Formats: sequence, C-alpha cells, structure tokens
Amino acid sequence: MTKKKAIVIGSGFAGLSSACYLAKAGFEVSIFEKNEQAGGRARKLEINGFTFDMGPSWYWMPDVFEQFFKDFNTTVEKQYDLIRLDPSYAVFFGKDDVFRIPANLNDVYALFEKEEPGSSIQLKKFLADAEYKYNVSMSDFVHKPSLSLLEFIDFRILNAALRMDLFKSISKYIKKHFKNQKLVQLLEFPVLFLGAKPNETPALYSMMNYADIVLGTWYPMGGMFKIVEAMISLAKQQNVLIKTNETVQKIIVKNKIATGIVSNGIIYEADVIVGAADYHHIEQNLLEEPYRNYSKSYWESRKMAPSCLMYYIGIDKKIEGLEHHNLFFDAPFDLHAEEIYDRPQWPSNPLFYSTCASKTDKTVAPEGKENLVLLIPIAVEIEDTEAIREKYFTIMMDRLEHLTGQSIKQHVIVKHSYAIKDFKNDYNSFGGNAYGLANTLKQTAILKPSLKNKKVQNLYYAGQLTVPGPGVPPSIISGHIAAKEIIKKFKN
Ligand SMILES: Cc1cc2nc3c(=O)[nH]c(=O)nc-3n(C[C@H](O)[C@H](O)[C@H](O)COP(=O)(O)OP(=O)(O)OC[C@H]3O[C@@H](n4cnc5c(N)ncnc54)[C@H](O)[C@@H]3O)c2cc1C
Repeated sequence: MTKKKAIVIGSGFAGLSSACYLAKAGFEVSIFEKNEQAGGRARKLEINGFTFDMGPSWYWMPDVFEQFFKDFNTTVEKQYDLIRLDPSYAVFFGKDDVFRIPANLNDVYALFEKEEPGSSIQLKKFLADAEYKYNVSMSDFVHKPSLSLLEFIDFRILNAALRMDLFKSISKYIKKHFKNQKLVQLLEFPVLFLGAKPNETPALYSMMNYADIVLGTWYPMGGMFKIVEAMISLAKQQNVLIKTNETVQKIIVKNKIATGIVSNGIIYEADVIVGAADYHHIEQNLLEEPYRNYSKSYWESRKMAPSCLMYYIGIDKKIEGLEHHNLFFDAPFDLHAEEIYDRPQWPSNPLFYSTCASKTDKTVAPEGKENLVLLIPIAVEIEDTEAIREKYFTIMMDRLEHLTGQSIKQHVIVKHSYAIKDFKNDYNSFGGNAYGLANTLKQTAILKPSLKNKKVQNLYYAGQLTVPGPGVPPSIISGHIAAKEIIKKFKN
C-alpha cells in the first residue's frame, strides 16, 4: 500500500512534533522550512565562540518532554543531559535586594515566611490548588483538539472546570493570598510567559506557579537547541525529510481539498498539510480568501502576546552576582504591562530579563567569558529602529551595572540585537509577536484559532497560535494533537 503523503510547513517545535507523530503512524512526511536552520523561534546563534539560544531559555514542565520522548521509545536522559537549576532564578527588586528562588520547596516556604509572616501556609494552599489545576489541565484539557464544546461535556471535566477558576483573574487570586508586593510580583511573573496582563489572565494559570515552584526550572546542557537537535534526529530516524531554505508561497486547494503546496516556485503534492508556521501567515498569505478560517478583521481584533527586544552579548570576563536566569523587577510591573497592552509604546521604565547560560554551561562561552541574553517584552507593531534598540541597550546595561555593582558595558565583545523586524522577516510573525496570542479567557481552548480548517479538507494547523497555546511544551503538544486528528481522519 502506498504511504499517505504529509507536508508540514515550519520546523519549530510544533512542526517537528507533528512530523514525528505522523511518520510514526506511517505517513511519508516532508517538512518545508524557510530558514537555513530548523527549530523556528528556538534556533541557535553562534558568534566568535559564543552560542546563544535565540528564543526559549526556560525549560519548564519536564513531564511534557518525558512523555514526548517516551512516545518514541526513548527517554530525555538518552537525548540530552538535563539538570535542575538551583537557584531556579534570581529576582532583582533593587540593589542588594535580590531573591534567589531555591529549588527546594521547604526553602521557598522559608523565603516567603521571612518576607510575610504566615505566607508559607498560604503558599501551601495556593500550590495545592495550582497542582490540582495543573494535573486536571494536563490530563483532561490540554490534549483536546478544542474543535467543539462537546469535548468538554463530561461530568468529571465540568466538575473540575468549576474548581479551575476560569472566571477569576490571577491578579485578584494572588492578592487574596498574599499582601507583600514582592511576593505578588514573584507569583505574577509566570504570566509574562503567557503574554497577558495578570488582571486579564484567568486564575486557572496559577498552575504555572506549580510548574515554576514545584516542578522546577531545568536546563539541557548545551542549550535549549539540544531539544531541537533531539527532535530532528528522531524525525530523521523515521525518514522525515527536512527541507530548509524552502519558503512556502501557497497552499493549493482543489474542490475544497488541500492537495499540495508551492515552495520556491515548485509544486509539491500531498494528501494532508499541517500549517505549523504562524497561523496568521498561513491563512492570510498562503491561502486564497474563500478558504480562510478567519478574516483580516478577526486578526486585528486579537490580543497578541508581546514581542521583545533582545540582545545576544558576549562579555570578556565573568560577571559577579548573576544566576543562570535573572529577572529585573526594579521597575513598576503595571506601567510596563500598560505600555505593552493598553497604550502600545516603548516602555518608559522597562522590566527586563537576562539569561547567563555560561553560569551553568562551559560550552556556550569561551573560558573566562560570559554569555548573556537580555530581553525586554514590548508591544507588537511599534516602531523598531537601530537607534531605539541602542537606547534600550544602554538602559539595560546601566541597570545591570548598577544592580550588580561592576562595569559590564566596556567588556562587551559580541553584540547582536533582535526585535520586531526580525520576528517578521525570520518567522512571518504577525505584528512581530514573539509568543503568539495572549492567553486571555476570550482566547482560551475552544476560543483559540481552530486546529482544523473548516472550509478545506485535509488542512490542519499546529503551533503556538492554536491550542493549547504559547511555550515550548504547549507547541510540542499542539503538534501531537494535530497529528492525532489527522491519523484519526485517515484511518476511516
Ligand atoms: C524570545 C523568546 C523567548 C521565549 N522563551 C520561552 C521560554 O523560556 N520557555 C518556553 O517554553 N517558551 C518560550 N518561548 C515560546 C516558544 O519558543 C514558542 O512558543 C515555540 O518555540 C513556538 O513554536 P512553533 O513551532 O509554534 O513556532 P516557530 O518556532 O515560530 O516555528 C514556525 C516555523 O515556521 C517557519 N515558517 C514561517 N513561514 C514559513 C513559510 N512560508 N514557509 C516555510 N516555513 C515557514 C518559521 O521560519 C519557523 O521556523 C519564547 C519565545 C521567544 C520568541
């Protein structure tokens, strides 16, 4: 029997994941990737002996990675050397005012108690609830295609949904448990990952606090790109063809059935297509209008997660006082969030974040030197010029020097910036977004862009703009859900 042909557009985590599952189910799979390197937003950048992860740096939800590799009869340990970071990260509230979040849970309770007497008891309750939400979400919600409300009509799920705090904001929920402003910020921070203001994010997402504080922050030695390499190698073992430097220009539709693509001017036929590049780009640029699930105005009315300004920096000395992950919360969170979501503009006094992977990993910087990535979340679709980027580079450098009490700027020997224009050019990202759609209640589960084209047969979508949402683990799950739907359809 001839194998069914699947074409996957895009080689990010979602594309690689769907390709692996489809190949395992017997499809002949080809991935078409516009960039020279596979991995999408998680590509790596190498400059003069420094190796930078270009996108994700926080390895959270290790259970999702374990499950993925288990599905292919292997384990995380066999794929890369994963270590738990301790401290998980540092939070700078000011000079000499730094929280180092310990990996050990009892030490976290002690840290809370020291800051706000009684808060460790609150934290225990808060985390028990967060654990419940995490477990129910992972077992009952996250793996659903969310194509119909009927999927959720089951007594156990409905009962659980009532306990999931869908209609409360996470901001109110956190403030109900904790008064201390620093503890509140600490617990609101994972929402940054989800790209929405805490007062607009459902309290359901306190499950991310469980992921953070209990499940922990991990690091694959060699960098996050090691995960991409492992997935590429699994795909290749199953004869997936990964074609890079292939820009897909069109999805061909005949009689309301997707029959192939045009890439670099050449037609490739397929029985099924997975659009695992940014959903907006697939629909608005590769599909003719009558076949699109959503209109231009639909996209304009979406709340996007932020873009970001990043600097990949090599330093010619070691920096004292930094951890692997560092959050700089020495500025008001609310004002910055407003300048991302309500009045889009460059932030007047930004929070920022820095990874210094060379604190853990000798391979990512030459000996005695430091590998630093700086990141400021910013609104999508704002002006992006060299002069603006440089202005914010100076702001971050000055703050870093002040907070860690040493000179850093004059030790920069490698410097590469990345922001809105690059997200658009490299990934065809809508508005230059970094993390897809904001996880607001109105953009959750069944209210997210559908995993399946409703007008064209055999065209599916995967990736951070569809279910379950942004982040590496959700993108891997998304590829799996799309593949499961396709396998189900082609079995019949
Ligand atoms: C700066 C940054 C930091 C992040 N930090 C974290 C973190 O710490 N932890 C975490 O879990 N998540 C993090 N994320 C989110 C996470 O990286 C993403 O959710 C995830 O990588 C998205 O995967 P994807 O497969 O959906 O999309 P992508 O990785 O964007 O893959 C889509 C691919 O499609 C390709 N493509 C686009 N158009 C075409 C075309 N016409 N033809 C062919 N190919 C095309 C693109 O080149 C790209 O390779 C971060 C993201 C960014 C940007």
